[in-house]
Amino acid sequence: MNLKEKDSKYIAGTYARFPLEIVRGEGSVAYDEEGKKYIDLSTGIAVNTFGYCDEVWQDAIKEQIGTVQHTSNLFYTNPCADLAEILCERTGMKKVFFSNSGAEANECAIKTARKYAFDKYGDYSHSTIITLKNSFHGRTITTLAATGQDVFHNTFAPFTEGFVYAEPNNIESVEELASKNNCCAIMFELVQGEGGVCPLTQEFVDGMRSLAEKYELLLICDEVQTGNGRTGELYSFMNYGFTPDIFSTAKGLAGGLPLGATVMGEKVENTLSPSSHGSTFGGNPVCCAAAKSIINRIDEKLLSEVKEKSKYIIDTLSAAEGVKSVTGLGFMLGVETEKEAKEVIAACREKGVIVISAKNKVRLLPALNIDFDVLKEAIEIIKDCCKGE
Ligand SMILES: *Cc1c(COP(=O)(O)O)cnc(C)c1O
Repeated sequence: MNLKEKDSKYIAGTYARFPLEIVRGEGSVAYDEEGKKYIDLSTGIAVNTFGYCDEVWQDAIKEQIGTVQHTSNLFYTNPCADLAEILCERTGMKKVFFSNSGAEANECAIKTARKYAFDKYGDYSHSTIITLKNSFHGRTITTLAATGQDVFHNTFAPFTEGFVYAEPNNIESVEELASKNNCCAIMFELVQGEGGVCPLTQEFVDGMRSLAEKYELLLICDEVQTGNGRTGELYSFMNYGFTPDIFSTAKGLAGGLPLGATVMGEKVENTLSPSSHGSTFGGNPVCCAAAKSIINRIDEKLLSEVKEKSKYIIDTLSAAEGVKSVTGLGFMLGVETEKEAKEVIAACREKGVIVISAKNKVRLLPALNIDFDVLKEAIEIIKDCCKGE
């Protein structure tokens, strides 16, 4: 049996894979089983923050894995406390709960908001959370319920109750829901990733902040995809000039190891009490050591390089033949093409560039440290693939 046959025989059929086996990677370059080279602008869906097998990241992992690999949360261990300190100091937040994925980080954010409301009102009267249509918050039953896309709501009912959905970039729609329901929070991605790389407008975000004050709602940012330098700031709310009450992150946090974090501000810093939440693997020392090495390298210099390279991509592709629009922020970009996105993605792969889709768009998620020359080579190929016949 070859790999493809074995995979389809034994792996649950949830993934429509590209016809490509990646056997090795180095920085922004990946190789298939025949040794063909690809420039990878997908970073494992915004996970490999510094590309494949980055040396500094490997060293941090190797050191920790030879010291303590896991102890459970019944004991004190570092580096999770170091990482929590770094996250709080870089964001102005107060406390961190560690888990293993984006969905779990969002589950914790939802539990925290609900418990905050319960503690405040003494009952479940304000358990409803407003989320946005076209959002994506994860694959568990509750985070699917939070996800404002009907396509995800088939076949798995009944869902967790208590979510209502507003139109993104339509503040009246948020106010209508806030005034008609007793809500505890609004939860949103500042750039809707799976929804097609669609940024919220500054005006809408400012409007949500005002409504949050008026209706006493917590602001929860899902930074699972947008976080960890992806949008040209450490967290995407920093592009919008505010700090949420809670944010969740995962994907790129540990640069390729599974780690989620729910980061809590002053209002909710004491909401989670002993035994109200937990995770066996959450805060794993190896994952946290990896994350420390990632976050510590996301400094002003790197972020300004991301912004500069992002501007180059936007300018080049916006002016390219066959490109309708480029949306997004930093290194989280969506390219709307005249051809089907699928067709462009396949043509790029043929020519040695890996890109993925987001709805009807070609999605670019380069490594934060991608070489300018390598990036230019990839963008020229993408440009070529967008052109008509
Ligand atoms: C990927 C993603 C999730 C889910 O993360 P998992 O690690 O797959 O559970 C949640 N929210 C957003 C915005 C995402 O992009």
